[in-house]
Amino acid sequence: MARPPLVPPGPELDRTERTRYARHLLLPDLGSTGQRRLRAARVLVVGAGGLGSPALLYLAAAGVGTLGIVDDDVVEATNLQRQVVHGDADVGRAKTASAADAVHAVSPLTTVVEHRERLTADNALDVVADYDLVLDGADNFPTRYLVGDACARLGVPHVWGSVFRFDGQVSVWWAGEGPCYACVFPRQPPPDAVPSCAVGGVLGAVCASIGSVMATEAVKLVTGVGEPLVGRLLVHDALGQTWDALPVRADAACRVCGSGADATRPLGWASAREDDGSADAGPADPRPTVTALGLRDVLARGDVLLVDVREAGEREVVTIPGSAWLPMDGVRAGTPDDPLPGLDVPRGGPVYVVCKTGARSAEAAALLRSRGVEAVDVEGGVLAWVRDVDPSLPTY
Ligand SMILES: [Zn+2]
Repeated sequence: MARPPLVPPGPELDRTERTRYARHLLLPDLGSTGQRRLRAARVLVVGAGGLGSPALLYLAAAGVGTLGIVDDDVVEATNLQRQVVHGDADVGRAKTASAADAVHAVSPLTTVVEHRERLTADNALDVVADYDLVLDGADNFPTRYLVGDACARLGVPHVWGSVFRFDGQVSVWWAGEGPCYACVFPRQPPPDAVPSCAVGGVLGAVCASIGSVMATEAVKLVTGVGEPLVGRLLVHDALGQTWDALPVRADAACRVCGSGADATRPLGWASAREDDGSADAGPADPRPTVTALGLRDVLARGDVLLVDVREAGEREVVTIPGSAWLPMDGVRAGTPDDPLPGLDVPRGGPVYVVCKTGARSAEAAALLRSRGVEAVDVEGGVLAWVRDVDPSLPTY
């Protein structure tokens, strides 16, 4: 569904601007009015890293009038493989300063606001409130959830991307218009459940693919051109060179934008894990678990072992794509040296276990933990997957 432009047009373009943006002015629907909207727009880019780099360069080149850049890091040599706003000579400089120079080199007409700070529950609302929309290329979950919460509370569109190894995901979260980030990813994963790019690696050019989609979505939202990625999660596999758009829905009970929201709570509260002490949603649960929606996020990143402990006939009815199979008898036969007979247990990473509703997988997870394997139980089992992730699948 097309949406009205986010930003009203500023004054007429001058002669220099008409030349500079000539290829935009030729575009159907965008034209000089769209260009005036871009010049009037205030866009916040969180993270001057792998995703922020291409997004900043293309937004600057597109003529966005004001770009805010949030980052509290300095440029390191390991960043240069993908963070193309920074050059070799920038190592050791503040990323905001280096990125601001790169923006100005492309577009002297763009005003840059440097936010050399980390977003926190105390400052995120104030920072975000100054902008028309936010591009979130943060490399850590606490910042993503803070940005998501702040955008949802302020009704600001949240153009989000993430990359890992050869994969990327991108969407536009927008409370009131479609799902917010927490509608689809309600809880922060345990710190070790999802490896970061620093641990798992990332192909630099995948950042360009996802970051340029983010810039495109920002231009579309500002100018009201086309159909934004609201309610769709775009999943990119660079090895297979595929892009899949998964429909995602707002959760009426969402603790950030739905009936479960509580504006008196600090930002980030709703998505905090219940066992990390920062949420008081109930007694601490020592067993690591993941929801079906959380599992989908984990699987989309690839390279995880999901073990289905149900019987053969149950798998005939319905299976979670990509799951390995070892029925409970096989799990029980394991030993500390061979915790899952016949399956390769990933070194370091957790093993996810699933059954029909969660009872058998809880037992399997406990057995695995007793053998020294970090195990995460899928809440509600395959039935929760069918209900929450893919209702087109059969159930039993
Ligand atoms: Zn929500």
